[in-house]
Amino acid sequence: MTNTTFSSLALAPEVLANIKSLGYETMTPIQAQSLPLVLDGQDILAQAKTGSGKTAAFAIGLLDGLDILTYQTQALVMCPTRELADQVSKEIRRLARAIPNTKVLTLCGGKPFGPQLASLEHRPHVVVGTPGRILKHLKKGSLRLNRLNMLVLDEADRMLDMGFQEDIMQIIDAMPQERQTLLFSATYPEEIKDISLAIQIDPIDVRVEDPVEENKIKQIFYEIERDERTEKLIALIHHYRPQSSVVFCNRKHQCQDLAEELWAKGFHALALHGDLDQNERDRVLVQFSNKSSSILIATDVAARGLDIKDLEAVINFELSPDPDVHVHRIGRTGRAGKEGLALSLFMASEAPKVSAIEKYQNISARIDHTATLKPREHFKLIPEMVTLVVNGGRKDKVRAGDLLGALTANKVILGKQIGKIDIADHLAYVAVERPIAKQALKILSEGKIKGRMFRVRKLN
Ligand code: AMP
Repeated sequence: MTNTTFSSLALAPEVLANIKSLGYETMTPIQAQSLPLVLDGQDILAQAKTGSGKTAAFAIGLLDGLDILTYQTQALVMCPTRELADQVSKEIRRLARAIPNTKVLTLCGGKPFGPQLASLEHRPHVVVGTPGRILKHLKKGSLRLNRLNMLVLDEADRMLDMGFQEDIMQIIDAMPQERQTLLFSATYPEEIKDISLAIQIDPIDVRVEDPVEENKIKQIFYEIERDERTEKLIALIHHYRPQSSVVFCNRKHQCQDLAEELWAKGFHALALHGDLDQNERDRVLVQFSNKSSSILIATDVAARGLDIKDLEAVINFELSPDPDVHVHRIGRTGRAGKEGLALSLFMASEAPKVSAIEKYQNISARIDHTATLKPREHFKLIPEMVTLVVNGGRKDKVRAGDLLGALTANKVILGKQIGKIDIADHLAYVAVERPIAKQALKILSEGKIKGRMFRVRKLN
């Protein structure tokens, strides 16, 4: 049996103590299987999904290999999306607390170039980012990879799906051949095997059971007629009343249309797709994750890397033609021991997709009649929270504590009535309970934060 205690690894006592302080008691399966190999310097090709603990599985190894006294970029992690890159950086920074002076820099597209140039002058030990922006810095000469000894490709399959292969290969060309390469991917299509062959040396395959227990997800399919997709989607929402759900569409224009239709029917639904600019995308993600919106309508690519907890339901407005993608979609509900709900609409002509899923999941699908869905009169799905946007962020030295302090200073609003606070460069998003939204808006817009007045508005 694999030893799952972190202390079985050859790590410094302060690193072990820090891992313990993060509340990580034992290694997750992906960590137990890959960390000894990573620490041993091996290349690995690992199958792991978000939520499996994969970030720590490479981050602990990556940090262990750093020479902190040498100010050179020694490790690079490439991710498909900015959200994933941000999450990965955060986890690396948390794990690096035990190693003073470790510099971790995030380089993503959609962010201004100038500050990244300035940060690169300090030669970070670790760079985490998206391939496009990393390549830009390489070409400009602002990023140098000639001293790199660890490369990690995270969610490699999705990076290939998003067309990053060429960028990735150009970036790899600028690295020493003698290095350790870790490849993490949720799925194993041929292209992954090809890229592994091209960039890894004798990689060891690491596969663990899917961390999502599929039986924790109640999965029901509903057969519909061609013109009743939206109507039946609404019927599902009426019937199950999920406080938070992601509705998957196969095409991006559908996401926008559907969001508008649901909005017109009084639902707080937001669309997440590739045509949004970075600010719009941030806003949508913030509103959904801080509970000011109940329905997120997304394409697979756009939803990738989202770390949204407590998702009550996943609804397939349309089935994916790929059963593997289907399983990935529904794996976003039923996390952390809670029972999840996966609901799928399909037309008779799509029955082969249902059969493919049955075969892939080795299940017999439960198909319910839409007549069993009960509409509720005067039903409204009102999000618990409201988001206020403050026109000042990290760069204006606004911190979450300042906002919390300003809101609760007069003791009319309690700390527990305030939800998530997200700070961007020049904006801050504050979630507050719906009944106190007006009051909170008044306090923030009429009072001073850090001695300054800021413009504040409520997001719809
Ligand atoms: P990931 O799959 O890397 O996105 O990790 C999912 C979550 O699990 C993150 O919030 C981690 O902080 C957390 N995590 C990672 N490793 C462990 C562990 N060994 N024990 C408990 N939680 C962990």
